This record gives sequence, structure tokens and C-alpha cells, in this order.
Amino acid sequence: MSGGTRPHAAAILVAAGRGERAGDGPPKQFRELCGVPVLERAWRPFVPPEEIGELVLVLPADVAEEPPTWLRQAPARLVAGGATRTESVARGLEAVSPGAGRILVHDGVRPFCSPALVRNVLAAAEVGPVVPLLPLRDTVKEVDGDGRVTRTPERASLRRAQTPQGFPAGVLREAHRRAARSGEDATDDAALCEAMGETVRGVEGEETNLKLTTPGDFEYAAWLLETGRVR
Ligand code: C5P
Repeated sequence: MSGGTRPHAAAILVAAGRGERAGDGPPKQFRELCGVPVLERAWRPFVPPEEIGELVLVLPADVAEEPPTWLRQAPARLVAGGATRTESVARGLEAVSPGAGRILVHDGVRPFCSPALVRNVLAAAEVGPVVPLLPLRDTVKEVDGDGRVTRTPERASLRRAQTPQGFPAGVLREAHRRAARSGEDATDDAALCEAMGETVRGVEGEETNLKLTTPGDFEYAAWLLETGRVR
């Protein structure tokens, strides 16, 4: 929790997506991984003793209205999300108290973020927007609508972006006000800050900080847990 008069930090976990790419069944953030729902694993590194004073979970409207027991017991405010990820973060932001000085945004489908990464992002967010980054192994191609390659960006300057991403609260609120006005939708919040000219810095991401997307990802995640590579 926050110490002294220093403004506390808040974390928003977005989990209002339908997760259609992971096959049939409940949305992937609500599925169990070795007996614990993915979303519960995702929020664990954000609860005390970490320096986070409030936690907001953004859920599909029906789940926010009638949450199952394990979600009712979450140390968090539960709110309904929107039609896009950007809208869901905006709904979460409305539920964060005005006193929060820094805000972290994390995908509810990333169950293995370490407490150390949360601490690094929190510390860097004092200064400005921050995003965990990893290098690419594959060469990336840009293609047109017919699948023809139009460009090969230089790999050395490319990075994969993860969450949690951290922001001074005022910067994130302003970025979302602008996005709401322009109707801009982005796949992450750092992009909204970049669009308004903010400098976004990187910290080192984690290979195990997976974003569960396909059925194969769930098998790999279970293997990581069973072999003790993640907790
Ligand atoms: O859509 P994408 O796979 O990028 O989703 C990343 C995260 O955003 C997931 O945790 C998903 O539940 C969340 N999301 C959301 N509201 C939406 C769409 C996605 O909270 N409308």
C-alpha cells in the first residue's frame, strides 16, 4: 500500500474480451490453469505487499454484474468493459480514484508477470510512460491486402511490447480523453501516449510473461507451471 503522503499507484487489469481465438469454452481469462483461474494468476503480482493501493478488474458486463465467488473475493473493484480494449481501459480508468499518481494497465490474459517486473514498471512510471519490451527472433514483413510483401522493417530496431505498462495518471487520462474524442482504438495504451507526442520508455520484458491466445498457449503455460519455470 502507499506509504506516507506519496500518492498511491493503481492497477487496471483488462479482462473484458471474449477470447475467440482460444477455441470453445469460457473466455480464456476465466479458464483454470493448474486449478487457478488465469485472471487470478494475473492479478496476484499486483496485490500488496507491492506498492499498489487499488486494483480494478474490467470484465464482460454480465460477469461484472453477477461475478462468480472467486471474483467476488478479489481484492478489487469490478467494472464492466467496452467493445474494444481501449474502451475497456477507459471504463477501468473511470473507476480509479483521482488520488492515484501512477497507473499500471495489464492484460488479464497474462498470468505469469513477475513481481519484479511490476516493481520495475512502477518505478519507471514516476518519470513517464513505460512499456516492457523484448527483441524479435523472426524477421517481420509488412504485407498488403493480397498478402504481397511490401516492406521489411529492420529487425534490430523492432521490439515486442508486453504489459504491464505504466503511466503517470494524468498522461494516461489525457491519452484516453483524446482517444475517446477521435475514436482511436489501439492495441496498447503506450500507442495512445505516442500519438500525443509523449516519450515512451522501455524496460526489459519477460519471455515467460505470455499472452494466452491459442489452445497451444494453454498447454505451454501448464507445462511452465508443472516444471516450476513459473509460479
Ligand atoms: O484483444 P486482445 O487479445 O489484445 O486483448 C488483450 C486484453 O484486453 C485481454 O485481457 C482482453 O480480455 C482485454 N479486452 C478487454 N475488452 C475488450 C477486448 C479485449 O478488456 N473489448
